[in-house]
Amino acid sequence: MLTNFSYIRPKTLKEAVKALSSGGAVLHAGGTDLLGCLRDHVSDVKKMVSISGLKELKGIMSTSDGGLRIGALTTITEVAESRVIRENYTALAQAAQEVASPQLRNQGTLGGNLCQKPRCWYYRGEFHCLRKGGEKCFAVSGENQYHCILGGGPCFIVHPSDTAPALVAFDAHVRIMGPKGARTVALEKFCVPPGVDARRETVLEPGEIVTDIALPPAQGVRSSYRKVRARASWDFALAGLALAIRFDREVVSHARAVLSAAAPIPWRSKELEGALLGKKLDADIIAKAADAAMKNAQPLEQNGYKIPLFKGMIEEELAIGKKA
Ligand SMILES: Cc1cc2nc3c(=O)[nH]c(=O)nc-3n(C[C@H](O)[C@H](O)[C@H](O)COP(=O)(O)OP(=O)(O)OC[C@H]3O[C@@H](n4cnc5c(N)ncnc54)[C@H](O)[C@@H]3O)c2cc1C
Repeated sequence: MLTNFSYIRPKTLKEAVKALSSGGAVLHAGGTDLLGCLRDHVSDVKKMVSISGLKELKGIMSTSDGGLRIGALTTITEVAESRVIRENYTALAQAAQEVASPQLRNQGTLGGNLCQKPRCWYYRGEFHCLRKGGEKCFAVSGENQYHCILGGGPCFIVHPSDTAPALVAFDAHVRIMGPKGARTVALEKFCVPPGVDARRETVLEPGEIVTDIALPPAQGVRSSYRKVRARASWDFALAGLALAIRFDREVVSHARAVLSAAAPIPWRSKELEGALLGKKLDADIIAKAADAAMKNAQPLEQNGYKIPLFKGMIEEELAIGKKA
């Protein structure tokens, strides 16, 4: 049962920031995650501020430097189907296509996908866990088969977004508007690891709104997003990999590799990138790179299966990338 709240539909970004800046306000974009959180009592709400009327936050536009700007209210379907994204930022289109179901992709927005709350069943359940201000992470000694193997502690969630790893692979930046004005943050720094603060997911301050996502030019980058999940219909990732690679002849001259469902934030694997840079992708290099990506993994009691799963997926993806 939801508690009563007021519902506000500001007409301008300025009005939205103002409405969000007072206590108890939550931002509503597509609502596909937010409404579940309210029903699960993950968040309380006194005032819901819908930004869906803000036209300036919608759409996909090429920028003068050859990059792209994607408004935060652009739907996941629009991202998946955009010709410019499919051709130049393939991993992002593939990641968007992997999100949830067609209905959720039609309603859910890119901004909401980056800001959604984690899916841990303790956090979403009736447990006063660390992330909700309690004293312990119940996953440590509980059911932890879907939790993280990298970057965990003191909380062991995995970051739920499919699009965030792809955007980090392209070095996307998030543009934010808030009570103190506009600012831009690299997406790689947008998510907050639990070791820094286990009670927040992003660097957003009260009243701040993600307005758009800026992508630099993707010249010559080959990219892909691979997601492994338990069910072929909609499901969150058990393991995922966003790759953005540039070759100089056959040698890897640029590599960004970001793992999903591995860590509490989209996990840039510098070990994997380092194992690829300056190399020709033969079977030996590919196997070593997959090992390197999992070198620092620290599984919990029930999620050790993720290590061979990631290794196999990384090997397959690199073998495909080499031929593309
Ligand atoms: C059944 C189901 C399956 C799903 N499967 C997947 C999946 O496979 N992969 C995946 O990545 N996601 C999945 N999702 C998660 C999510 O619903 C979608 O990813 C969607 O994109 C969220 O967007 P939204 O606009 O509906 O966000 P909302 O629900 O409106 O918002 C989500 C959160 O982000 C905040 N927020 C939204 N927009 C902004 C903004 N512009 N600035 C600041 N804060 C903002 C809201 O306040 C809220 O806290 C799934 C959800 C459901 C219910």
